[in-house]
Amino acid sequence: MEITKPETNTNNQWHTISGEETLQSLHSSPTGLTQSEAESRILRFGTNELIAEKRESPLILLFNQFKSLLIIILIIAAGVSFWTDGVAEGISILIIVLLAGVLGFIQEFQADKAIESLQKMASPHAQAIRDGVELHVEASQLVPGDIIILKTGDKIPADGRLIEANNLKIEESSLTGESLAVEKSSGIIEGKNIPLGDRKNMIYSGTTISYGRGRAVIVATGMKTEFGKIAGMLQSTKNRRTPLQENLDQLGKKLGIFSIALAAAMSGIGLLRGYPFEKMFIWGVALAVAVIPEALPAVVTISLALGVQRMVKRRALIRKLPAVETLGATNIICSDKTGTLTHDEMTIKKIYVSGKMYDVEGAGYTPEGQYRFEETPVTAKEDKDLHNLLKFGTLCNDTILQNTDGTWSILGDPTEGAIVVAAAKAGIEYSILRDEFPRLDEIPFSSESKRMTTMHKVKGRLEAYSKGAIEVILNSCNAQYINGEVIELTEEARAHLLAKAASLSENALRVLAVSAKVLTAKVFNQKEIESDMVFVGMVGMFDPPRAEAKTAIDTCFTAGIKPIMITGDNKITAKAIAKSLGILRKGRAMSGSELDELSDEEFEHIVEETEVFARISPSHKLKIVTALMDKGHIVAMTGDGVNDAPSLKKADIGVAMGITGTDVSKEAADMILTDDNFASIVNAVEEGRSIFENIRKYLVFLLSGNMGTVFALVYTLLAGLKIPLTAVQILFINFIMDGLIAIALGVEPPEPGIMNRKPRNVKEGILNKDTIVLIGFIGILIAIVTTGVYVWAGSSGFTDEQAKTMFFLTLIFARLFNGFNCRSLEQSIFTMKFWSNKGLIISSLVSLAMSILVVSVPFLQQAFTTTLPNPIEWLGMIVAAFFIIVVVETVKWLFKRMAS
Ligand code: ATP
Repeated sequence: MEITKPETNTNNQWHTISGEETLQSLHSSPTGLTQSEAESRILRFGTNELIAEKRESPLILLFNQFKSLLIIILIIAAGVSFWTDGVAEGISILIIVLLAGVLGFIQEFQADKAIESLQKMASPHAQAIRDGVELHVEASQLVPGDIIILKTGDKIPADGRLIEANNLKIEESSLTGESLAVEKSSGIIEGKNIPLGDRKNMIYSGTTISYGRGRAVIVATGMKTEFGKIAGMLQSTKNRRTPLQENLDQLGKKLGIFSIALAAAMSGIGLLRGYPFEKMFIWGVALAVAVIPEALPAVVTISLALGVQRMVKRRALIRKLPAVETLGATNIICSDKTGTLTHDEMTIKKIYVSGKMYDVEGAGYTPEGQYRFEETPVTAKEDKDLHNLLKFGTLCNDTILQNTDGTWSILGDPTEGAIVVAAAKAGIEYSILRDEFPRLDEIPFSSESKRMTTMHKVKGRLEAYSKGAIEVILNSCNAQYINGEVIELTEEARAHLLAKAASLSENALRVLAVSAKVLTAKVFNQKEIESDMVFVGMVGMFDPPRAEAKTAIDTCFTAGIKPIMITGDNKITAKAIAKSLGILRKGRAMSGSELDELSDEEFEHIVEETEVFARISPSHKLKIVTALMDKGHIVAMTGDGVNDAPSLKKADIGVAMGITGTDVSKEAADMILTDDNFASIVNAVEEGRSIFENIRKYLVFLLSGNMGTVFALVYTLLAGLKIPLTAVQILFINFIMDGLIAIALGVEPPEPGIMNRKPRNVKEGILNKDTIVLIGFIGILIAIVTTGVYVWAGSSGFTDEQAKTMFFLTLIFARLFNGFNCRSLEQSIFTMKFWSNKGLIISSLVSLAMSILVVSVPFLQQAFTTTLPNPIEWLGMIVAAFFIIVVVETVKWLFKRMAS
């Protein structure tokens, strides 16, 4: 199938021709393109993507490593070293600089890659028709001529001409600035070159559907779309830095200034003690480099990115990186009930019509199960009212039941699916009904209206069928069916029906009522249609709670997190389910209407005691999240609908549903659950806590080690001893610790007890009082051990070179042992699984092997001014360094005892 360039075909005047003509000129049809044609069009038109800013090439990334001021100074120092200390020392410095540059490159490259793959994962999808079949395709794979299906909450993936529009309203503010949703239709619109906002039969990429359904044929993709044309202005692909990254940048800068001042001061003392200038210059540079945690930004990015990848495996997709930090501090999770805490697999268990309560057997979506009345099996079709309820409920429905390879499932909404399945159990087939009573129009379901109405042609007459929440349906009825007769709906009858509904709700059943009406006028006016209806009956459906949600709720309580249930269901049903899940404990349950009666202040007073919110509309959610945040809580809030977007944006952590969520909610969210499961939020919190903790561990390890080195050097200088470390040795230790060990600590798996602690205070920085004390304490300890060995060696007849080598090796051992200490800042390492951080073990062994080479290979011995110790000396140094583990572990134990 050959086509001419569609974008020049009508000079972007698609709105002036009909849908059929558009299809023809794009060589498409209502059954869509063939798969092979779509694939060949991708080659011709390119993918449906905005061309993102080019990433830096790996070569430039590598080159950038050597552009930093520190490295340049180091290279100069290496030059000076060639001249003063000889070739071996100069080359060694250069090699270390080179290795550090390459390692920095690998770290940054990995971090970039990890972020890129995360961005890919969050790529949008669309419903398209190809070869006549509905498919879920990646939005990037759409081509001109593709037919796409549009529904409430979708983000429009490309520009298109509508071929069908059903109450379709689109929010186009991103393109036209008009914030009110525009009503769309599929007819021809006259007038070439009219503004985009007036082209009511067109849809534009980047806008969102706020209501209704429709179909469109794509006319432009990627950079050819109206959105693509202005994309240059919108390309803000720059990675946002997280507050933590910003804080650490600041810390890095402060440490930088501190280290330069320190190095200058110490080199000054060295000069006063009579060391030559060139030597003190190189030494000072090395010292400054050693104190600055150069790898800090890369370690933080890698631990964030890898942590986020671990979250993906645990079904939580992070959209905004700063969310990771906030996640760890979350102390309230507001969760929707249906689908998140429950399976969202509705099965009708009870049906109440004409004063009779029927039981319906069976589970899930398999249409097998007996109808019973007072234990006796009955034929559902024989009760006219029951038959009507099933028939009307099925017609007022967009969900179909399907059987693939013997397994029954539904395509659509579970609440609706439950009715279709119950009808099928009674032998009523949706596909037959649909043809017999064609739908003429509809008023779609919304979480605000809590009802849906459809209009049908029934034997030359017009009839409307409604289904929805019991009180909503009852409010719109003035009569009821009793044994096929229409009789008045008295106040008494209303009270009776509400009592019946309450009894169903108490058993954790969702109640849905059905009503009907014969329409006289052909004019469809929503208010008129949904009033003076006839009540038909009600159904009670069960949605089993998720077993893993119950466990996750228990975890929340031990982790100091309060779970709150928010549901569109009624209060009694909500309370029953919340109790069974363990959410409703000592607190209260409140309904949306009760909430409406409270002033903001009154609500703020009781919001913290409330554990369940029922009959909630999306606007209530915003009120709830605002009140909780005003009270100083860190709130995660779930949502799936279009109107949930404001509360998702407002919450500290907006959580959207990956399966049932609309594009609009996903776009507003910080995190998407790929399995819609509450347990995944709790898992993500655990990962969030552990990422933060890992960065803290890395900082404690690095800063305490650096402090230890500095303290030891200050002491030896002030005490008039010979400087124990050469510039090359300082750089070598820095390379091992900053490069290898730090990364391994940054990716430590979550600590087992991390969910037994209370949430972190969000106001507290990464370096809180305790960690600063710990850093100082370990630093002093390292200094005591290393200078102890040095002083002892100096006074025990060892040569200068031997004593310095011992200092060098003891410092390395002490810092490596410290790496193991820092695997947990609270738990004893003896209670942790030794092998669970293999990276740390491997990098420690590699560091050890490198250190052995440095003291045993003659060339390196010369460059590093080292000698080979004998076995007894090795043992002595290891035992001395092990002291670090003994003391730090004892302190951890003491703290634990004091805390308990
Ligand atoms: P939750 O908030 O717990 O996730 P939900 O999102 O399913 O629940 P809504 O979809 O807002 O809640 O539903 C609220 C009420 O609207 C339900 O209790 C039910 O009475 C009614 N309802 C739900 N789905 C439909 C539908 N497809 N047609 C008509 N009424 C519906």
